[in-house]
Amino acid sequence: MNRLELNASHYRCIVEHAKASPSDEVCGLLGGTQERCLTVYPGKNIAPTPECAFYMDPHTQLTTMRLMLERGEELVGIYHSHPSSAALPSARDADCATYPGVAYLIVSLIDVMNPTLAAFQFANNSFEPLPIMIEQNDKTEYRGTICIQE
Ligand SMILES: [Zn+2]
Repeated sequence: MNRLELNASHYRCIVEHAKASPSDEVCGLLGGTQERCLTVYPGKNIAPTPECAFYMDPHTQLTTMRLMLERGEELVGIYHSHPSSAALPSARDADCATYPGVAYLIVSLIDVMNPTLAAFQFANNSFEPLPIMIEQNDKTEYRGTICIQE
């Protein structure tokens, strides 16, 4: 993966999800093909200490992965938020990174009015920065957001 492509509404969806619970980390998955995100799937963080960690509800994760498969998508990214730290992977993020070739997106809410988004790729046991391309007016067929209701 050399970059991650999102459109403006995917970007908004991820940032709005993070802003909706500014003191707890949120998490979700991105489905798409190769380097392009097609659909944002907000997940549910069930970590016991959600203010500084995330653990995606396995049931939602399974349902999401199944839905992606049905839609001909693959897992292209995993996103989560940092309520009070920078958009950089924490030591815990590195311990929990298990998917090589997938983009790890982090939204920082240090400045809630101006959240920052950064992407990384986990390779050779460390995170490397991954450029994000946000398409504004392209003609690509993007999908949207799917919220999986319990
Ligand atoms: Zn983190």
